[in-house]
Amino acid sequence: MRLPIYLDYAATTPVDPRVAVLLGRHLTRDGVFGNPSSTTHIVGRQAAQAIETARNQVAALINANPQEIIWTSGATEANNLALIGAVRAQARRGRHLLTSKTEHKAVLDVCRWLERNGCTVTYLDPGPDGRIPLERVAAALRPDTVLVSLMRVNNETGVLHELAAIGALTRERGILLHTDAAQSAGKLPIDLQTLPIDLLSLSAHKMYGPKGMGALYVRQHPVRVRLEPLLYGGGQERGLRAGTLPTHQIAAMGEACRIAHSEMDAEQTRIRQLRDQLWQAFTRLGAVELNGHPQQNVAGILNVSFTGIAAEALLAAVPEIAISMGSACTSASYEPSHVLRAMGINEIRARGAIRFSLGRFTTVEDINYTVHAVTAAVNRLRELSPLWEDHQRGVKIEVD
Ligand SMILES: *Cc1c(COP(=O)(O)O)cnc(C)c1O
Repeated sequence: MRLPIYLDYAATTPVDPRVAVLLGRHLTRDGVFGNPSSTTHIVGRQAAQAIETARNQVAALINANPQEIIWTSGATEANNLALIGAVRAQARRGRHLLTSKTEHKAVLDVCRWLERNGCTVTYLDPGPDGRIPLERVAAALRPDTVLVSLMRVNNETGVLHELAAIGALTRERGILLHTDAAQSAGKLPIDLQTLPIDLLSLSAHKMYGPKGMGALYVRQHPVRVRLEPLLYGGGQERGLRAGTLPTHQIAAMGEACRIAHSEMDAEQTRIRQLRDQLWQAFTRLGAVELNGHPQQNVAGILNVSFTGIAAEALLAAVPEIAISMGSACTSASYEPSHVLRAMGINEIRARGAIRFSLGRFTTVEDINYTVHAVTAAVNRLRELSPLWEDHQRGVKIEVD
Protein backbone atom coordinates (compact mmCIF):
# COMPACT_ATOMS: atom_id res chain seq x y z
CA MET A 1 0.00 0.00 0.00
CA ARG A 2 1.21 3.43 -0.96
CA LEU A 3 0.64 6.62 1.02
CA PRO A 4 -1.10 8.93 0.46
CA ILE A 5 -4.08 6.79 -0.49
CA TYR A 6 -5.75 8.40 -3.47
CA LEU A 7 -9.55 8.35 -3.30
CA ASP A 8 -10.30 11.38 -5.44
CA TYR A 9 -10.68 9.79 -8.87
CA ALA A 10 -13.70 11.99 -9.62
CA ALA A 11 -11.43 15.06 -9.48
CA THR A 12 -8.83 13.53 -11.77
CA THR A 13 -7.21 10.20 -12.48
CA PRO A 14 -3.53 9.33 -12.83
CA VAL A 15 -2.55 8.62 -16.43
CA ASP A 16 -2.53 4.87 -17.10
CA PRO A 17 1.11 3.76 -17.70
CA ARG A 18 0.10 2.29 -21.07
CA VAL A 19 -1.32 5.68 -22.06
CA ALA A 20 1.80 7.51 -20.83
CA VAL A 21 4.05 5.31 -22.99
CA LEU A 22 1.96 6.03 -26.08
CA LEU A 23 1.83 9.74 -25.30
CA GLY A 24 5.64 9.84 -25.09
CA ARG A 25 5.92 8.28 -28.54
CA HIS A 26 4.18 11.27 -30.10
CA LEU A 27 6.56 14.01 -29.02
CA THR A 28 10.16 13.54 -30.02
CA ARG A 29 12.01 13.44 -33.31
CA ASP A 30 12.07 9.63 -33.38
CA GLY A 31 8.33 9.56 -32.72
CA VAL A 32 5.20 10.87 -34.46
CA PHE A 33 5.72 14.59 -33.93
CA GLY A 34 4.48 16.07 -37.21
CA ASN A 35 1.75 18.61 -37.77
CA PRO A 36 -1.27 16.55 -38.81
CA SER A 37 -2.26 19.35 -41.21
CA SER A 38 1.05 18.98 -43.11
CA THR A 39 -0.30 16.49 -45.59
CA THR A 40 2.42 17.17 -48.18
CA HIS A 41 4.85 14.81 -46.45
CA ILE A 42 5.01 11.53 -44.60
CA VAL A 43 5.81 13.12 -41.22
CA GLY A 44 2.55 15.06 -41.25
CA ARG A 45 0.57 12.17 -42.67
CA GLN A 46 1.76 9.87 -39.88
CA ALA A 47 0.45 12.35 -37.35
CA ALA A 48 -2.84 12.63 -39.25
CA GLN A 49 -3.06 8.83 -39.18
CA ALA A 50 -2.51 8.79 -35.39
CA ILE A 51 -5.30 11.35 -34.99
CA GLU A 52 -7.73 9.26 -37.03
CA THR A 53 -6.86 6.09 -35.09
CA ALA A 54 -7.65 7.97 -31.87
CA ARG A 55 -10.85 9.38 -33.35
CA ASN A 56 -11.98 5.82 -34.10
CA GLN A 57 -11.16 4.74 -30.54
CA VAL A 58 -13.10 7.59 -28.96
CA ALA A 59 -16.04 7.02 -31.30
CA ALA A 60 -16.04 3.27 -30.53
CA LEU A 61 -16.36 3.94 -26.80
CA ILE A 62 -19.65 5.77 -27.32
CA ASN A 63 -20.77 3.96 -30.50
CA ALA A 64 -20.62 7.09 -32.64
CA ASN A 65 -19.20 7.75 -36.10
CA PRO A 66 -15.61 9.05 -36.06
CA GLN A 67 -16.62 12.15 -38.09
CA GLU A 68 -18.86 13.14 -35.18
CA ILE A 69 -15.89 13.65 -32.79
CA ILE A 70 -14.41 17.16 -32.41
CA TRP A 71 -11.21 17.48 -30.34
CA THR A 72 -11.20 20.08 -27.57
CA SER A 73 -9.01 20.99 -24.59
CA GLY A 74 -11.33 19.21 -22.16
CA ALA A 75 -14.93 18.83 -21.09
CA THR A 76 -15.08 22.50 -20.11
CA GLU A 77 -14.35 23.63 -23.65
CA ALA A 78 -16.65 20.94 -25.06
CA ASN A 79 -19.49 22.26 -22.86
CA ASN A 80 -18.79 25.84 -23.96
CA LEU A 81 -18.75 24.86 -27.63
CA ALA A 82 -21.92 22.78 -27.29
CA LEU A 83 -23.99 25.40 -25.49
CA ILE A 84 -22.72 28.65 -26.95
CA GLY A 85 -22.16 27.13 -30.39
CA ALA A 86 -25.65 25.64 -30.60
CA VAL A 87 -27.38 28.76 -29.26
CA ARG A 88 -25.57 30.98 -31.79
CA ALA A 89 -26.40 28.65 -34.65
CA GLN A 90 -30.07 28.62 -33.68
CA ALA A 91 -30.51 32.22 -32.55
CA ARG A 92 -33.51 32.69 -34.79
CA ARG A 93 -35.38 29.65 -33.44
CA GLY A 94 -35.33 30.67 -29.80
CA ARG A 95 -33.16 31.58 -26.84
CA HIS A 96 -34.37 29.38 -24.01
CA LEU A 97 -32.27 26.63 -22.43
CA LEU A 98 -33.09 24.05 -19.79
CA THR A 99 -30.62 22.54 -17.35
CA SER A 100 -30.47 21.47 -13.70
CA LYS A 101 -29.14 23.01 -10.51
CA THR A 102 -26.89 19.98 -10.00
CA GLU A 103 -24.80 20.43 -13.14
CA HIS A 104 -21.05 20.99 -13.02
CA LYS A 105 -19.87 24.61 -13.00
CA ALA A 106 -18.59 23.99 -16.53
CA VAL A 107 -22.24 23.99 -17.62
CA LEU A 108 -23.73 26.36 -15.03
CA ASP A 109 -21.20 29.14 -15.63
CA VAL A 110 -21.76 28.92 -19.39
CA CYS A 111 -25.51 29.25 -18.73
CA ARG A 112 -24.89 32.33 -16.56
CA TRP A 113 -22.89 33.88 -19.40
CA LEU A 114 -25.66 33.07 -21.87
CA GLU A 115 -28.17 34.75 -19.54
CA ARG A 116 -26.08 37.91 -19.60
CA ASN A 117 -26.14 37.69 -23.39
CA GLY A 118 -29.82 37.54 -24.17
CA CYS A 119 -30.80 33.96 -23.29
CA THR A 120 -33.22 32.66 -20.70
CA VAL A 121 -32.27 29.57 -18.71
CA THR A 122 -34.47 27.38 -16.52
CA TYR A 123 -32.58 25.54 -13.75
CA LEU A 124 -34.52 22.47 -12.66
CA ASP A 125 -34.58 21.24 -9.05
CA PRO A 126 -33.69 17.59 -8.54
CA GLY A 127 -35.60 15.30 -6.21
CA PRO A 128 -34.05 14.46 -2.80
CA ASP A 129 -32.18 11.56 -4.43
CA GLY A 130 -30.53 13.91 -6.93
CA ARG A 131 -32.48 12.77 -9.99
CA ILE A 132 -34.44 15.07 -12.28
CA PRO A 133 -37.97 13.72 -12.72
CA LEU A 134 -39.03 13.42 -16.37
CA GLU A 135 -42.26 15.35 -15.69
CA ARG A 136 -40.23 18.37 -14.55
CA VAL A 137 -38.35 18.39 -17.82
CA ALA A 138 -41.56 17.99 -19.83
CA ALA A 139 -43.27 20.80 -17.93
CA ALA A 140 -40.39 23.23 -18.38
CA LEU A 141 -39.99 22.89 -22.15
CA ARG A 142 -41.18 25.92 -24.09
CA PRO A 143 -41.82 26.69 -27.75
CA ASP A 144 -38.58 28.71 -27.81
CA THR A 145 -36.44 26.07 -26.05
CA VAL A 146 -33.43 25.26 -28.20
CA LEU A 147 -31.33 23.07 -25.94
CA VAL A 148 -31.52 20.89 -22.82
CA SER A 149 -28.29 20.13 -20.96
CA LEU A 150 -28.28 17.34 -18.38
CA MET A 151 -25.29 15.33 -17.19
CA ARG A 152 -25.27 11.52 -17.25
CA VAL A 153 -23.46 11.04 -13.91
CA ASN A 154 -23.18 13.71 -11.25
CA ASN A 155 -19.57 14.35 -10.23
CA GLU A 156 -20.34 14.91 -6.55
CA THR A 157 -22.94 12.25 -5.78
CA GLY A 158 -22.49 9.73 -8.60
CA VAL A 159 -26.24 9.84 -9.29
CA LEU A 160 -27.33 8.73 -12.78
CA HIS A 161 -29.78 10.46 -15.03
CA GLU A 162 -31.87 8.31 -17.32
CA LEU A 163 -31.48 10.22 -20.54
CA ALA A 164 -33.32 7.93 -22.98
CA ALA A 165 -36.79 9.16 -22.01
CA ILE A 166 -35.68 12.78 -21.79
CA GLY A 167 -34.03 12.45 -25.22
CA ALA A 168 -37.22 11.03 -26.71
CA LEU A 169 -39.05 14.11 -25.47
CA THR A 170 -36.52 16.59 -26.86
CA ARG A 171 -36.09 14.74 -30.17
CA GLU A 172 -39.85 14.79 -30.76
CA ARG A 173 -39.85 18.59 -30.40
CA GLY A 174 -36.70 19.28 -32.36
CA ILE A 175 -34.82 20.43 -29.24
CA LEU A 176 -31.15 19.51 -28.85
CA LEU A 177 -30.03 17.37 -25.91
CA HIS A 178 -26.51 17.97 -24.59
CA THR A 179 -24.87 15.71 -22.00
CA ASP A 180 -21.76 16.31 -19.96
CA ALA A 181 -20.41 12.75 -19.87
CA ALA A 182 -17.08 13.52 -18.18
CA GLN A 183 -17.98 11.25 -15.24
CA SER A 184 -19.69 8.47 -17.19
CA ALA A 185 -17.62 7.78 -20.30
CA GLY A 186 -15.50 4.72 -19.77
CA LYS A 187 -17.53 3.80 -16.70
CA LEU A 188 -20.98 3.13 -18.12
CA PRO A 189 -21.91 1.93 -21.59
CA ILE A 190 -22.97 4.83 -23.84
CA ASP A 191 -24.58 3.87 -27.15
CA LEU A 192 -25.26 6.90 -29.30
CA GLN A 193 -26.85 4.77 -32.01
CA THR A 194 -29.78 4.26 -29.65
CA LEU A 195 -29.55 7.16 -27.16
CA PRO A 196 -31.14 10.34 -28.56
CA ILE A 197 -28.31 12.61 -27.35
CA ASP A 198 -27.14 15.23 -29.85
CA LEU A 199 -24.06 16.70 -28.16
CA LEU A 200 -21.85 14.95 -25.61
CA SER A 201 -18.78 16.23 -23.76
CA LEU A 202 -15.80 14.05 -22.83
CA SER A 203 -12.71 14.64 -20.71
CA ALA A 204 -9.54 12.54 -21.02
CA HIS A 205 -8.27 13.11 -17.48
CA LYS A 206 -11.33 11.53 -15.87
CA MET A 207 -10.53 8.26 -17.64
CA TYR A 208 -6.77 7.79 -17.13
CA GLY A 209 -5.74 10.09 -19.97
CA PRO A 210 -3.93 13.44 -19.79
CA LYS A 211 -5.32 16.73 -18.50
CA GLY A 212 -6.05 19.42 -21.07
CA MET A 213 -7.69 17.04 -23.55
CA GLY A 214 -11.29 16.29 -24.38
CA ALA A 215 -13.80 15.94 -27.17
CA LEU A 216 -17.28 16.96 -28.18
CA TYR A 217 -19.53 14.51 -29.97
CA VAL A 218 -21.68 16.38 -32.52
CA ARG A 219 -24.47 14.28 -34.03
CA GLN A 220 -24.73 14.10 -37.81
CA HIS A 221 -27.48 11.52 -38.21
CA PRO A 222 -30.52 11.48 -38.20
CA VAL A 223 -30.31 15.13 -37.13
CA ARG A 224 -27.36 17.18 -38.27
CA VAL A 225 -26.42 19.49 -35.40
CA ARG A 226 -25.22 22.91 -36.49
CA LEU A 227 -22.73 24.81 -34.31
CA GLU A 228 -20.96 28.14 -34.53
CA PRO A 229 -17.27 27.80 -33.59
CA LEU A 230 -15.78 29.65 -30.62
CA LEU A 231 -12.30 29.84 -32.14
CA TYR A 232 -11.23 30.95 -35.60
CA GLY A 233 -7.96 30.02 -37.22
CA GLY A 234 -6.66 27.21 -39.36
CA GLY A 235 -10.00 25.57 -40.06
CA GLN A 236 -9.18 22.31 -38.26
CA GLU A 237 -11.98 19.99 -37.14
CA ARG A 238 -14.33 20.98 -39.97
CA GLY A 239 -13.89 24.62 -38.98
CA LEU A 240 -15.47 23.97 -35.57
CA ARG A 241 -12.30 24.13 -33.53
CA ALA A 242 -9.25 25.85 -34.93
CA GLY A 243 -5.75 25.21 -33.63
CA THR A 244 -2.94 22.74 -34.40
CA LEU A 245 -4.04 19.37 -33.10
CA PRO A 246 -1.98 18.10 -30.13
CA THR A 247 -1.14 14.67 -31.53
CA HIS A 248 0.34 13.33 -28.26
CA GLN A 249 -2.72 14.33 -26.24
CA ILE A 250 -5.12 12.98 -28.84
CA ALA A 251 -3.32 9.65 -29.26
CA ALA A 252 -3.31 9.34 -25.47
CA MET A 253 -7.03 10.02 -25.20
CA GLY A 254 -7.66 7.41 -27.90
CA GLU A 255 -5.62 4.81 -26.02
CA ALA A 256 -7.40 5.70 -22.75
CA CYS A 257 -10.74 5.10 -24.48
CA ARG A 258 -9.56 1.81 -25.98
CA ILE A 259 -8.50 0.54 -22.54
CA ALA A 260 -11.68 1.77 -20.88
CA HIS A 261 -13.80 0.12 -23.56
CA SER A 262 -12.17 -3.28 -23.18
CA GLU A 263 -11.86 -3.28 -19.36
CA MET A 264 -14.96 -1.37 -18.30
CA ASP A 265 -17.20 -4.25 -17.20
CA ALA A 266 -14.67 -6.07 -15.03
CA GLU A 267 -13.27 -2.82 -13.66
CA GLN A 268 -16.63 -1.39 -12.65
CA THR A 269 -17.65 -4.65 -10.93
CA ARG A 270 -14.45 -4.61 -8.89
CA ILE A 271 -14.76 -0.92 -8.00
CA ARG A 272 -18.42 -1.33 -7.00
CA GLN A 273 -17.47 -4.11 -4.58
CA LEU A 274 -14.82 -1.94 -2.95
CA ARG A 275 -17.19 1.03 -2.75
CA ASP A 276 -19.90 -1.13 -1.16
CA GLN A 277 -17.37 -2.48 1.33
CA LEU A 278 -16.53 1.10 2.33
CA TRP A 279 -20.21 2.04 2.71
CA GLN A 280 -20.96 -1.11 4.76
CA ALA A 281 -18.13 -0.28 7.13
CA PHE A 282 -19.29 3.33 7.50
CA THR A 283 -22.87 2.29 8.29
CA ARG A 284 -21.53 0.32 11.27
CA LEU A 285 -20.49 3.66 12.79
CA GLY A 286 -24.15 4.71 12.98
CA ALA A 287 -25.65 8.08 12.00
CA VAL A 288 -24.07 8.10 8.56
CA GLU A 289 -26.06 9.49 5.67
CA LEU A 290 -25.70 8.69 1.99
CA ASN A 291 -25.89 11.77 -0.20
CA GLY A 292 -27.22 10.42 -3.45
CA HIS A 293 -29.27 7.56 -4.80
CA PRO A 294 -28.82 4.08 -3.26
CA GLN A 295 -29.08 2.25 -6.61
CA GLN A 296 -29.01 4.68 -9.54
CA ASN A 297 -25.34 5.56 -9.20
CA VAL A 298 -21.95 5.05 -10.78
CA ALA A 299 -19.68 2.49 -9.08
CA GLY A 300 -16.79 4.72 -8.05
CA ILE A 301 -18.42 7.51 -6.03
CA LEU A 302 -19.56 7.48 -2.41
CA ASN A 303 -20.75 10.76 -0.89
CA VAL A 304 -21.50 10.57 2.83
CA SER A 305 -22.12 12.82 5.82
CA PHE A 306 -21.12 11.64 9.31
CA THR A 307 -23.56 13.26 11.72
CA GLY A 308 -21.85 15.69 14.11
CA ILE A 309 -18.70 16.12 12.03
CA ALA A 310 -17.71 18.91 9.64
CA ALA A 311 -15.90 17.77 6.51
CA GLU A 312 -12.86 19.99 7.20
CA ALA A 313 -12.33 18.33 10.57
CA LEU A 314 -12.38 14.84 9.11
CA LEU A 315 -10.13 15.78 6.22
CA ALA A 316 -7.61 17.24 8.67
CA ALA A 317 -7.78 14.09 10.82
CA VAL A 318 -6.81 11.77 7.96
CA PRO A 319 -4.25 13.76 5.95
CA GLU A 320 -2.79 10.57 4.47
CA ILE A 321 -6.02 9.95 2.55
CA ALA A 322 -6.77 12.14 -0.48
CA ILE A 323 -10.52 12.74 -0.37
CA SER A 324 -12.60 15.81 -1.01
CA MET A 325 -15.55 17.73 0.32
CA GLY A 326 -18.14 18.44 -2.32
CA SER A 327 -16.30 18.77 -5.59
CA ALA A 328 -12.70 19.91 -5.97
CA CYS A 329 -13.73 22.89 -8.09
CA THR A 330 -15.85 24.43 -5.35
CA SER A 331 -13.84 23.47 -2.28
CA ALA A 332 -11.75 26.65 -2.60
CA SER A 333 -14.79 28.56 -1.42
CA TYR A 334 -16.34 27.45 1.85
CA GLU A 335 -19.86 27.43 0.48
CA PRO A 336 -21.59 24.11 1.02
CA SER A 337 -22.03 22.19 -2.23
CA HIS A 338 -24.59 23.66 -4.64
CA VAL A 339 -25.47 20.11 -5.68
CA LEU A 340 -26.34 18.90 -2.18
CA ARG A 341 -28.20 22.10 -1.34
CA ALA A 342 -30.29 21.74 -4.53
CA MET A 343 -31.23 18.22 -3.37
CA GLY A 344 -32.72 19.78 -0.24
CA ILE A 345 -29.96 18.58 2.08
CA ASN A 346 -29.66 20.89 5.09
CA GLU A 347 -26.64 23.11 5.51
CA ILE A 348 -25.05 21.24 8.43
CA ARG A 349 -25.29 17.89 6.66
CA ALA A 350 -24.01 19.45 3.42
CA ARG A 351 -21.02 20.91 5.29
CA GLY A 352 -20.25 17.42 6.55
CA ALA A 353 -20.34 15.82 3.12
CA ILE A 354 -17.26 13.92 2.01
CA ARG A 355 -16.75 12.37 -1.38
CA PHE A 356 -14.75 9.17 -1.63
CA SER A 357 -14.10 8.30 -5.26
CA LEU A 358 -12.44 5.05 -6.26
CA GLY A 359 -10.81 3.99 -9.49
CA ARG A 360 -8.58 1.68 -11.50
CA PHE A 361 -5.68 1.64 -9.04
CA THR A 362 -7.67 1.43 -5.79
CA THR A 363 -6.80 -1.75 -3.87
CA VAL A 364 -8.48 -3.78 -1.11
CA GLU A 365 -5.64 -2.65 1.17
CA ASP A 366 -6.44 1.00 0.42
CA ILE A 367 -10.05 0.42 1.42
CA ASN A 368 -9.17 -1.52 4.58
CA TYR A 369 -6.80 1.20 5.68
CA THR A 370 -9.37 3.89 4.93
CA VAL A 371 -12.05 2.08 6.91
CA HIS A 372 -9.78 1.88 9.97
CA ALA A 373 -8.49 5.43 9.76
CA VAL A 374 -11.87 7.04 9.11
CA THR A 375 -13.63 4.96 11.77
CA ALA A 376 -11.05 5.98 14.39
CA ALA A 377 -11.21 9.62 13.33
CA VAL A 378 -15.02 9.76 13.36
CA ASN A 379 -15.19 8.23 16.83
CA ARG A 380 -12.56 10.61 18.16
CA LEU A 381 -14.12 13.71 16.59
CA ARG A 382 -17.59 12.79 17.77
CA GLU A 383 -16.37 12.70 21.38
CA LEU A 384 -15.43 16.36 21.00
CA SER A 385 -18.46 17.44 19.00
CA PRO A 386 -21.28 19.46 20.63
CA LEU A 387 -23.42 18.62 17.60
CA TRP A 388 -22.91 14.94 18.24
CA GLU A 389 -23.84 15.41 21.90
CA ASP A 390 -27.08 17.10 20.78
CA HIS A 391 -27.73 14.24 18.38
CA GLN A 392 -27.19 11.69 21.19
CA ARG A 393 -29.63 13.53 23.43
CA GLY A 394 -32.15 13.58 20.60
CA VAL A 395 -32.06 17.34 20.12
CA LYS A 396 -33.50 18.19 16.71
CA ILE A 397 -31.42 20.73 14.89
CA GLU A 398 -33.67 23.23 13.17
CA VAL A 399 -31.99 24.26 9.98
CA ASP A 400 -33.11 23.94 6.44
C1 LIG B 1 -14.07 17.25 -14.56
C2 LIG B 1 -15.37 17.64 -15.10
C3 LIG B 1 -15.48 18.68 -16.02
C4 LIG B 1 -14.27 19.49 -16.47
O1 LIG B 1 -13.50 18.75 -17.39
P1 LIG B 1 -12.12 19.33 -17.90
O2 LIG B 1 -11.67 18.32 -18.92
O3 LIG B 1 -11.24 19.40 -16.72
O4 LIG B 1 -12.38 20.65 -18.52
C5 LIG B 1 -16.72 19.00 -16.51
N1 LIG B 1 -17.80 18.32 -16.13
C6 LIG B 1 -17.75 17.32 -15.24
C7 LIG B 1 -18.98 16.60 -14.86
C8 LIG B 1 -16.53 16.94 -14.70
O5 LIG B 1 -16.48 15.96 -13.81
